[in-house]
Amino acid sequence: MKRKCSACDNKENLTIYPNKLCQRCFSKKKEDELLIKGIKLPISSKHLIDNYLVREKPIRLIALENNLKPHKISSILDYYLIPKRNFADINKKSINENIFQDLNTESAYLLGYIFTDGHLALNKKKNQFFLHIYSKYKYQLENVKEIFKSNSKIQYRRQTNYGGIVQGEIYWIYIENQKIIKSLLGLGMTTNKNTSIKFPEIPEHLKNHFLRGCWAGSGCVSLYKNTILSQITIGSIDFIEEIERYLNLNGLKKRNIYSNKNSKKDSYVIRYATKDSEKLYKLLYGNKTQHTTCKRHEKKYVEKFGPIK
Ligand SMILES: [Zn+2]
Repeated sequence: MKRKCSACDNKENLTIYPNKLCQRCFSKKKEDELLIKGIKLPISSKHLIDNYLVREKPIRLIALENNLKPHKISSILDYYLIPKRNFADINKKSINENIFQDLNTESAYLLGYIFTDGHLALNKKKNQFFLHIYSKYKYQLENVKEIFKSNSKIQYRRQTNYGGIVQGEIYWIYIENQKIIKSLLGLGMTTNKNTSIKFPEIPEHLKNHFLRGCWAGSGCVSLYKNTILSQITIGSIDFIEEIERYLNLNGLKKRNIYSNKNSKKDSYVIRYATKDSEKLYKLLYGNKTQHTTCKRHEKKYVEKFGPIK
C-alpha cells in the first residue's frame, strides 16, 4: 500500500513522515516554523528538494550554484530534515562490486572491454582511482550496465566544435567503486594502459569471451563486397602478441604485428582476412550471451557467414 500525503496530492516518490506529511510539506513546515522565529535560510526547502532529492545534484554543485559553502548546504538540509545521501552506500547498492572476484562469461567479456576501452585515472584529491568507460555506441554501455548490475547513469556529450577541432558525440559511464577498481588493478589494469598493459591471467575457457570484449572495445570488422576484414589495434605490444599467440593456437594463421603509423600514439595492429575471420567469428561468437556481444561486428559476420549453428 502506498501512503499518501495528508496535506497535498504529491505523486512523487518521496518519504512520507509519521505525521502523514510528504517530504515537501514536512520540510515546508520546518521552513515556516523558522520564519515565525524570524530566521530566513538562504535556500528554500522547495529549491533543495528539487535539486538535491529530485534531480540528485551533489551538495557541492548546489553550493556552487547558490554561492554558498558545501557545509552550509549540509546544515540547511539538516534544518529542513531532508535526509542526506550516503555516497558510499549508494555506490555499493548500485553495482555488483564482486563481479571480478570470480570470472564468468559476462565478467570476462566486460574485462576485455574495460582493458581496451576503459580509462583509469587518479583522483588526486581523494587519492583514489576511478574508471571511465567511453563509447560512441550507447548500446555498448547499456550492456556494461547490465553486466555490472549497475543503475549509474549513462552520460552523453554532443558533438562539439572548438575552433575547428571537432569532437564527436560520446557516451560514458563513471565507476568509482574501490572494490571494483582494486580487482581491475589486481588483474593488471593500469593507468598507462596504452603501452604497459599485459594480457591478464584468466582461465583458458574464458579467453574467447575476454577477447570478444577486447574486439568490442578496440577491434574493427569491415565487410566490403565479398571480403571481410577483422582487425584489432592495441597500444601495448605485449598484449597484442598474446592475442596473436592465442588466436594462432586456436587455428588462425600466424600473423605479423604491424606498427600503426596513423595514430598519434604508438599502437599495433593485427589483421585477419576472410578465411581467418570466419574462424575468429566462430571462436569469439560461438557461445556469446545476450549482453556480451558487439552488435555491429556480429551483424557483419552473420551477413557474410550466416548464424553459427
Ligand atoms: Zn505533501
